Amino acid sequence: MKKYKIEIEEILQRVVDVEADNLAEALDKVQEQYDNEEITLDYNDFKDVDIRQYIPYIEMGNDDKRYCSECGNEMTQGYCINDGLEYYCNDDCLHKHYTQEEYDKMYDSDYAYWTEWE
Ligand SMILES: [Zn+2]
Repeated sequence: MKKYKIEIEEILQRVVDVEADNLAEALDKVQEQYDNEEITLDYNDFKDVDIRQYIPYIEMGNDDKRYCSECGNEMTQGYCINDGLEYYCNDDCLHKHYTQEEYDKMYDSDYAYWTEWE
């Protein structure tokens, strides 16, 4: 069996009534209420869910180059996760996503390792 990274994105949606002189003011008012947490969406506002393969936010245009999935730095060495589905340039970037313990487990199952590229 292979391992896959699947992302789950939930969409919360609510329609609120607001009185204002124009649309811009209406948007500002609601933005302010949202920022002040007078409006907070929760599971009652659930609208839809997307479940799909996770693709790191930086698409690689050139196969010869690798970029850190966290900070975007070009890499000549670093952590390779799940056959290159994710790369991390150093411990700091790695540990934003995985603890040392998690990494050790992934390393034990050949799911993650440190490597150097030409
Ligand atoms: Zn990085």
